[in-house]
Amino acid sequence: MSRRASTPLDGIELVLTDLDGVVYQGPGAIPHAVDALNAARAERRVGYVTNNASRTAASVAGHLGDLGLEVAEEDVVTSPQAAIVLLQQHAPAGSTILVVGGEGLTSVVEAAGFTVTRSADDAPAAVIQGFAPEVGWQQLAEAAFALRAPEGEDGIPWVATNTDWTIPVARGIAPGNGTLVSAVHTAVGRLPVVAGKPEKAIFDAALQRFAVADAASALFLGDRLDTDIIGANRAGLRSAIVLTGIDRAKQLLPADADSRPHFILGDLRELDQPYPEQIVKTGLRGVRKHRSGDAEVVVDGSQVRLSKPGSAVDVVRAGTAAVWGTGTPIYALDVDPALYA
Ligand SMILES: [Mg+2]
Repeated sequence: MSRRASTPLDGIELVLTDLDGVVYQGPGAIPHAVDALNAARAERRVGYVTNNASRTAASVAGHLGDLGLEVAEEDVVTSPQAAIVLLQQHAPAGSTILVVGGEGLTSVVEAAGFTVTRSADDAPAAVIQGFAPEVGWQQLAEAAFALRAPEGEDGIPWVATNTDWTIPVARGIAPGNGTLVSAVHTAVGRLPVVAGKPEKAIFDAALQRFAVADAASALFLGDRLDTDIIGANRAGLRSAIVLTGIDRAKQLLPADADSRPHFILGDLRELDQPYPEQIVKTGLRGVRKHRSGDAEVVVDGSQVRLSKPGSAVDVVRAGTAAVWGTGTPIYALDVDPALYA
């Protein structure tokens, strides 16, 4: 009797995906992403998760729809929405909140029943901070004035949508919300609570939105280990890195245990294709062979080498399994350059 090989979608009720580097890159969709996500949506929920606080869920949904995705506004989970959950935990209902950010943030703060102010003189109950292109010194200074704690006190709560150091925009890579949070931090000597990836709040908000009780029945698709994968792992979701964005073999091979994904995908066509069984065989003198598809990687002492070629993604799968399986930091290993190619 033959056993059908499982796919990354087996047992998954909810697919959550990062946007930049997974769904689109610059103005255009990443090849195969639209078809794969629409196909996934035919049998389960699909949600779109973004740290970018400068756009509303409606505008993100509009953009995704233009790319050909079947998506509704409530399928989009933004870091401002997750930040509101934190704000509700830290500030009294209906209180006045100092907002550093743009319409993507003020709209959700107001929709949650809070009053928005831009001035520290209005005695805000908390500060919420997210990226918008129009954020400048004046807004950052008001946050600093509001957050300054009287002697012996903690000061008012401070919630940040995310602390991404960079933000990709049409003309290139620009300073992200992390740099603006850091400017306020420099003035006040405190740190905010953070909602966005890699923090847990945005994953919790997404699971809550789609009413998924078991985090392990949700699969997160991302292109970065340091935000998407580490965050999904922390929140108890299954995770897949898609090699269409930022991180590639060079970042995967040295990954720490907490930022290793469950699946490595070359592109999103592989979402519903059988995932090759990851085979390990230990031979004489403890020499180990890791196989994924046709690719085979041998670990002999501190030597890690590609012994049989395979598809590019299978080489990454076998290579990472081999390196991670050693339990040794990568700098102490002699790794075949073919594994980085
Ligand atoms: Mg991304």
